[in-house]
Amino acid sequence: MLDQISMAQITELYKNNQTPTYNEIVQFYQQLDRESEYAKLVECGPTDIGENLQLFVIDADKEFDPVLSRKKNKSILLINNGIHPGEPDGIDACIRLTNELLHSSDLKEQLKHLTVCIILVYNIDGCLNRNSTTRVNQDGPEEFGFRGNAQNYDLNRDFIKCDALNAQSFAQIFHTWDPDVFVDTHVSNGADYQYVMTLIATQHSKLTAPLGEYLKNKMLPALYSQMDKAGFPMCPYVNEIDKIPDNGITGFLDLPRYSTGYAALFNTIGFMPETHMLKPYPQRVDATYELLKIYLRYVNDHAGEILVARNHAIEFTTNQVQFACNWELDKNKPEYFLFRGFAAKYKTSEISGLNRLYYERKEPFEKNILFYDTYNVTEMITAPKSYVIPKAWRHVIERLKLNDVAMDALPGDTMMETEVYYIERFETTTSPWEGHYFHSNVKIRKEMQKVQFHKGDYVIHVNQPSNRYIIETLEPQAPDSFFAWGFFDAVLMQKEWFSDYVFEDLAAEILKQDDALKVMLEEKKKTDDIFSGDAWAQLKFIFDNSQYREITYNRYPVFRLN
Ligand SMILES: [Zn+2]
Repeated sequence: MLDQISMAQITELYKNNQTPTYNEIVQFYQQLDRESEYAKLVECGPTDIGENLQLFVIDADKEFDPVLSRKKNKSILLINNGIHPGEPDGIDACIRLTNELLHSSDLKEQLKHLTVCIILVYNIDGCLNRNSTTRVNQDGPEEFGFRGNAQNYDLNRDFIKCDALNAQSFAQIFHTWDPDVFVDTHVSNGADYQYVMTLIATQHSKLTAPLGEYLKNKMLPALYSQMDKAGFPMCPYVNEIDKIPDNGITGFLDLPRYSTGYAALFNTIGFMPETHMLKPYPQRVDATYELLKIYLRYVNDHAGEILVARNHAIEFTTNQVQFACNWELDKNKPEYFLFRGFAAKYKTSEISGLNRLYYERKEPFEKNILFYDTYNVTEMITAPKSYVIPKAWRHVIERLKLNDVAMDALPGDTMMETEVYYIERFETTTSPWEGHYFHSNVKIRKEMQKVQFHKGDYVIHVNQPSNRYIIETLEPQAPDSFFAWGFFDAVLMQKEWFSDYVFEDLAAEILKQDDALKVMLEEKKKTDDIFSGDAWAQLKFIFDNSQYREITYNRYPVFRLN
């Protein structure tokens, strides 16, 4: 039994601007588990705070097993709550929703083709760190958790790098259940407008066919229209092009670090509902509740077509050779969205005496605004037949394994002709970002080399459902690659050097043997004044073009077999 509050009370808490504590949330679901034979609370992997993730599974056939759900052609819907515990709307909405669902007489109809999984609270760490100040502009609840987890990571940037145990345990849940549809609940800041609910859907241009089209043309219009009917008209997430929504909004490029971008790598359609933080808490929870109810109904009613579309996408991915790995917004393809906003105005700031923005709620408007929701591919990668990754890179290998990437260990030492990348250029953040000095704008040079591999090094064939994950993490140019997150930084430093006065004589000898190099050196001296006046730079030039160069310096240590 709940210690302090009853089951009825906990479902009503949000109406009084409250959200339950972590213990109350767990006790509520334990109680539901005891009361209903259609639900089971499953203990999953650990989080950084030392508590295990809890997954609540609801299945009308009382089978709490993804294999059995699949056998019956059921769709699987995964809902993730409390990734940002200062945004607990989904936690309270799910408490109300599950309580009603499990006490309803037509549960079997509502879940005929659907198994529902709910992560009670993903960031348990942050949920236990309760306060009433860290969401400064948000209208309730009175107390809530903190965004960072126990290691101060934002878990909604951690899906690829998996710094947090939370993220590693999430990957296990995700791949065990392999959801068709994934919903990660949030609250948003930004402009003021009339909507209680805004929605980020997986960027449709990034989803594998036919899923992108299905999402954009079928599923999203249905969700919008049903939310309208439920009394909570919805707007795409208000990502302004220029300061205020009146100037147009854009779709969100959900890279794989984010929940929906991660889900997309595995052909799961993902959503981040973002309620508006300036709306009172009870309204926000009601809107989230209505949207989640609509998801349940939609996925149950359309399980067949979702499964068909997804199976096509998985089959396509498994056989795919060309992969997009960078995108940019297409500003030539605007759509229009009938937007319900408030007039954006300016007045003199009491603080600075300068002009400040405010939204006049007494002047609501409805007008068409530009909505850019198409992204074009700017970089394509041709996949190799396989990658080889030496077993030494265990942090990367662990993450690949967590994500169901099949790999074969080499049975013995072997030399192989491979395509190698040299990292030519990249940019790095000047301060840490989510615990890493993040790299971007990576440029590579390719070379063919014979490389010695050792027993136990891993070969990863690019012929599996995880192909997109493999490409977008292992190709260093991809925006969320393991290289970008700094997993391979050690190769970016040369280990051995020459002693200049000793190397002088050897360098002269090398030039005598290598006419082409001599010409290159003379050419560079002629065209580069600084170089011609720098003795050490000239020695280094010869060193770098000789057999003494350090071949592993800047060589990306994942190798391509074509
Ligand atoms: Zn959030």
